[in-house]
Amino acid sequence: TKKEEQTFKAKESKTKDNWKTKIAANIGSPDDLEGYHNFGAEGIGLFRSEFLYMEAQNWPTEEEQFNAYKKVLESIKPNLTVIRTLDIGGDKTLKYYQFPKEMNPFLGYRAIRVQLDQKELLVTQIRALLRASYYGNLAINIPMIATIDEFKKVKEIIIDVEKKLLKEGKKIGKYQLGIMVEIPSTVILAEKFAKYVDFFSIGTNDLIQYTFAADRMSKSVSYLYQPFNPAILESIKKVIDSSHKYNKWTAICGEMANEEKLAPLFVGMGLDEFSMSSTSILKIRRVIAKVDKKNAEKLVEKVLNLETSDQVENLLTNYLKNIL
Ligand code: PEP
Ligand code: MG
Repeated sequence: TKKEEQTFKAKESKTKDNWKTKIAANIGSPDDLEGYHNFGAEGIGLFRSEFLYMEAQNWPTEEEQFNAYKKVLESIKPNLTVIRTLDIGGDKTLKYYQFPKEMNPFLGYRAIRVQLDQKELLVTQIRALLRASYYGNLAINIPMIATIDEFKKVKEIIIDVEKKLLKEGKKIGKYQLGIMVEIPSTVILAEKFAKYVDFFSIGTNDLIQYTFAADRMSKSVSYLYQPFNPAILESIKKVIDSSHKYNKWTAICGEMANEEKLAPLFVGMGLDEFSMSSTSILKIRRVIAKVDKKNAEKLVEKVLNLETSDQVENLLTNYLKNIL
């Protein structure tokens, strides 16, 4: 109940048997910070930086970005703020920039693909982020990474920018660098990526669309949007296991993170962070508090042996009923 949920506001996110995880908030603009402070979030797991670009009349300057990031970091510290670099393209367009016309924009010029092509856009954003890092606890998250080469290119640019900033006498704090896992190639390469990144953040909204080759905006193929399908759940487990093998951490920041039925399963997989809109945090924290970690690990085995989305959903529905 809503009243019971309120009692979880001041609490940590842990299971009945005291296994700890974390629930962070997704935000789309600094205006969402109010929600952050009202619902007991343990950090920001996804700050979509698109708003800065979509509301503006022209590419936002380094100074404009720096001020926005600094404000968020100061407000959230000492907790971690994960800021995602620009994820534009697909369905998100800009008033002041003409994207190339493409048959399949979701498979085209989007996110880091744009910023690796127009490097000055990446450099400006990274300069703002690194300068802001001094004022809080920052993690930089790169969207739509598909290959190891892309990640290495981004990392090289970041290291170059850092050197330049230090030469200019700018102050820079410590920061982490991770990637969105939302393209199947990145799941397949997860163990190799895990050596290089500090963390993974699984973008299940896109991971589902790219795994089933079904546009997330299309009504006619919406039956293929299957978060409970073992194909997705096995992918998530592989990413978590790969990160832990190299002492890195994994978050889920797509919509799957706020599905109550899935929370026990993710606990069983050892998910380090759930990230969701602030209003869902207490609901999920309450479910986690009723889960027994050892038992949830057995649930993972059972679920991954099933074949269809419906079979999984039925099993998880019953599991949730039994623990609540
Ligand atoms: C996702 O793909 O799950 C995600 C969190 O990113 P976005 O919804 O912004 O693409
Ligand atoms: Mg995405």
